[in-house]
Amino acid sequence: MVTGRPRGTIELICGCMFSGKSEELLRRLRARKGDRVRAFKHPRDDRYSGTEIVTHGRDRYDAIVVGQAAQIPDCLGGDEALVGIDEGHFFDAALPDVCRRLAEAGTDVIVTALDPDSWGKPFGVIERLKQVADKVVVMTATCAKCGRPATRNQRTTPIVDGNIVGGPEAFEPRCAECWHPPPEPHIR
Ligand SMILES: [Zn+2]
Repeated sequence: MVTGRPRGTIELICGCMFSGKSEELLRRLRARKGDRVRAFKHPRDDRYSGTEIVTHGRDRYDAIVVGQAAQIPDCLGGDEALVGIDEGHFFDAALPDVCRRLAEAGTDVIVTALDPDSWGKPFGVIERLKQVADKVVVMTATCAKCGRPATRNQRTTPIVDGNIVGGPEAFEPRCAECWHPPPEPHIR
């Protein structure tokens, strides 16, 4: 780790699906031209690519794939200016502490996260990340039913084996008024 750097900041970009979280992350990663930047994703998010962050609009950015939050520092040189972590809700309970340690060593951290989940409930790891974040940005989509700002994901197909990963074929954004919780038990 490089010593003597000022503390970095932790920023959480959260919201429902299709709210542009990954687009915002890629915009922020690219804005740091000339700085050392690294992006991470979880292997569970393999909807479009195994080794890239890919937005619903098919924009792409190279990412390191790690299944455990504790592996993230092992993949870094310690002198990164910015680390981006996509779909933070897929990660384990160590994620908030990993982000805090990176920031203390001078690296800015930006994490995107689905918030809330398909049942309208918060992910525990994201609740804890909010407590260590310097800034929380809440993004909204457009409700597929009424066109008002959407904050929820509506599951539009049955949930099989607790698998909640999906794209436009399985979810649509809804406002709280138009959203109905899925009948399936709350499995994660
Ligand atoms: Zn609506």
